[in-house]
Amino acid sequence: MAASRKQKVVVLGSTGSIGVNTLDVIARHPDRFEVIALTAYRNVELLAEQTKRIAPKQVVVADREARERLASLLKGSSPEIGTGVEDLMRAATLKEVDIVVSAIVGAAGLVPTLAAVQEGKRVALANKETLVMAGRLVMEKAKEHGAEIIPVDSEHSAIYQCLAGEDPGKVRRLVLTASGGPFREMTRNEMERVRPENALQHPRWEMGQKITIDSATLMNKGLEVIEARWLFDLPVEQIDIVVHPESIVHSMVEFRDGSVLAQMGLPDMRVPIAYALGYPERLESGVEFLNVIEQGPLTFEQPDRERFPAIALAEDALRQGGLMPAVLNAANEVAVSSFLQGRIGFLQIPRLIRAVMEKSRNRNYETIEEVLRTDLETRKTAREEIGRL
Ligand code: NAD
Ligand code: MG
Repeated sequence: MAASRKQKVVVLGSTGSIGVNTLDVIARHPDRFEVIALTAYRNVELLAEQTKRIAPKQVVVADREARERLASLLKGSSPEIGTGVEDLMRAATLKEVDIVVSAIVGAAGLVPTLAAVQEGKRVALANKETLVMAGRLVMEKAKEHGAEIIPVDSEHSAIYQCLAGEDPGKVRRLVLTASGGPFREMTRNEMERVRPENALQHPRWEMGQKITIDSATLMNKGLEVIEARWLFDLPVEQIDIVVHPESIVHSMVEFRDGSVLAQMGLPDMRVPIAYALGYPERLESGVEFLNVIEQGPLTFEQPDRERFPAIALAEDALRQGGLMPAVLNAANEVAVSSFLQGRIGFLQIPRLIRAVMEKSRNRNYETIEEVLRTDLETRKTAREEIGRL
């Protein structure tokens, strides 16, 4: 890399679990990458620390209050501090930038990610909600503007790696693996009494709160089926889920000739992050290596679709198409935050989503504005529905 210029990177959501891991990988390759902008929401303490270490040209936070707190932490030696969606979009579309790491959580990631796609950037995509809400549109725009979307979600990175150099027409099935979450072996009665703190103790690795709850309901896997549908252009009938509690096989691709390719490794998000940053090159990521002897047996089982109805809800939304996946996503975000606030029980999460989906009239969409309007309307419906529960 010595002769070529450094690749310029923007990290959207740099204070989150993916954001922090991304900066860790980048710090291992100072001759290859240069971070130009960082964005966060309200965690200005961590953002201030990152800003001092990395010296980006631009940072973006939630609002004026967060900006003032950040400015006072940085005491004068501060880069330009933007606020809100407009400035997130500006950061995501800076002319000099090569790679945008999309690691904001939830629907808030959609608009800046789409902006980066429309500028033809390489997008290292962790924010799966972008493809859940508007997968068809985002993939069309990527094609139109020559943007590469490289998945950071570990399952999709695994599939991407297994498909490298393959003819996509020869794929029979994608198999997404799922850890099964912390309630894999609970009865429905036990699940009825689950508290947020039980769900937040994810068995394998530290993630943000939203995806941790999604992993416990298995909605995360449902969202990933939708994400896979758009990334790999395959119908839901060719995307399966198996529970694999050891989380060593990160997903598999079954080909027409009977071959199954799997990607394995210890569970550490720095692997898919490094892959998305370096593609097609493999970069050192700092992870520990898998020792299959010490690891012991790998097991696989069918997901329990009765105890975890979120999977079927997501598949149903995908089959209905149009705006229904955006409805599913918005209802899920309201349900998850209500559960975290102790306002609804764990098993009410899928019930609420189902009720909201049933209330919503589905139609096709052409523009991102329609998707965003549906997102807002669905949140309102979901909050009303909670009032009724
Ligand atoms: P997190 O909650 O740890 O971090 C989220 C980041 O987004 C933070 O920097 C936060 O400041 C910022 N943010 C939050 N709300 C925002 C808003 N309204 N506007 C702008 N910025 C906002 O989340 P995470 O676990 O890092 O996950 C990020 C994304 O990556 C999610 O979409 C998640 O599904 C996906 N993902 C995460 C993992 C993982 O292991 N953590 C794995 C696969 C996919
Ligand atoms: Mg995943």
